[in-house]
Amino acid sequence: MFDYLIVGAGFAGSVLAERLAADAGKRVLLVDRRPHIGGNAYDHYDDAGLLVHKYGPHIFHTNSREVFDYLGRFTAWRPYEHRVLASVDGQLLPIPINLDTVNRLYGLGLTALELEQFFAARAEPVESVRTSEDVIVSRIGRELYTKFFRGYTRKQWGLDPGELDASVTARVPIRLNRDDRYFSDTYQAMPSRGYTRLFDRMLAHPNIKVLLGADYRDVAHEVSFRQMIYTGPVDEFFDYRFGKLPYRSLRFDHQTFDRPTFQPAPVVNYPNEHPYTRITEFKYLTGQEHPKTSVVYEYPCDDGDPYYPVPRPENAELYRRYKALADATPGVHFAGRLATYRYYNMDQVVAQALTLYARLRE
Ligand SMILES: Cc1cc2nc3c(=O)[nH]c(=O)nc-3n(C[C@H](O)[C@H](O)[C@H](O)COP(=O)(O)OP(=O)(O)OC[C@H]3O[C@@H](n4cnc5c(N)ncnc54)[C@H](O)[C@@H]3O)c2cc1C
Repeated sequence: MFDYLIVGAGFAGSVLAERLAADAGKRVLLVDRRPHIGGNAYDHYDDAGLLVHKYGPHIFHTNSREVFDYLGRFTAWRPYEHRVLASVDGQLLPIPINLDTVNRLYGLGLTALELEQFFAARAEPVESVRTSEDVIVSRIGRELYTKFFRGYTRKQWGLDPGELDASVTARVPIRLNRDDRYFSDTYQAMPSRGYTRLFDRMLAHPNIKVLLGADYRDVAHEVSFRQMIYTGPVDEFFDYRFGKLPYRSLRFDHQTFDRPTFQPAPVVNYPNEHPYTRITEFKYLTGQEHPKTSVVYEYPCDDGDPYYPVPRPENAELYRRYKALADATPGVHFAGRLATYRYYNMDQVVAQALTLYARLRE
């Protein structure tokens, strides 16, 4: 008899498994239908021996000391501040937009104060900021919006920014200084030996049994357990009773090149050319030294694994109906990005799992 059946071995399921087993002495069966642990954060060594992220680049950053310290029990950290360049008008320019981006794009020598005036002179007044287009156009004007945001968003979401919730671009900073870091969180670091290694250590507890390559529906009737924690898609749990929750997916094209470096930055974004949105070169992220280098191209698409919940009001409404069902299902706790239909970063999922654990312990 298991105390908990946990569905999904990503951050949500694995943190809960670890806490329940190691802190509360519970017996846990952790099931994932993929052949590996780690969920979307899974990394592995490719044929050339380079550490790569199977489901696209995962950069760890958080403002939560609690989350950073908790994960630090299972990994050493390699300090890493992420940087991204965007290919615009034949140049590779820092993104988020900062002082250097504008000065280099237009061949200017503005100061921070002058940049503020530059944006103010171009910003278009918007009565109420509703869409992703409104957010950017009302801050920096239409030209920079068109060069840096419109094409990227159209590719990424298959929708024009004018059709997307303000939340998609609202979290993108625009900087007046020369800070070219992609994130400004207090803690920015990568697990020194990779994410999968971190998960291995998290799950190495005698009270945790891990079953991979198995759908929970094929397992649940064969084992006995007291409660379930479900981190898979919430609409699938309820057999799509109200219809499918829309997701945007990605196709990943992993490639290895017989040279030490491929591009001048960890990530290069392509807002305006090519069908892919960005290329990531993993050696920057992992710090690995190797005569070859591996990269991944990301091609957004509609079909495939569910990656990004599409933030539109009608989808939020559909999720609310599923949430009401979830809240009324006794003995099952829903956690993680798929079960709550939200785009969460890893640290947010870890924080959510720790909060759920605190509630379960009571
Ligand atoms: C392309 C991409 C890039 C990202 N980059 C970053 C980043 O740079 N930084 C960051 O902080 N976050 C990033 N994220 C977000 C990060 O991936 C998530 O926050 C995190 O993986 C969520 O963990 P989770 O446990 O909720 O879900 P997941 O990792 O998706 O785990 C859920 C697991 O449940 C399993 N499952 C589902 N249904 C069943 C079933 N019926 N039976 C058995 N198993 C099942 C799935 O196989 C899956 O392994 C990125 C996400 C994507 C898509």
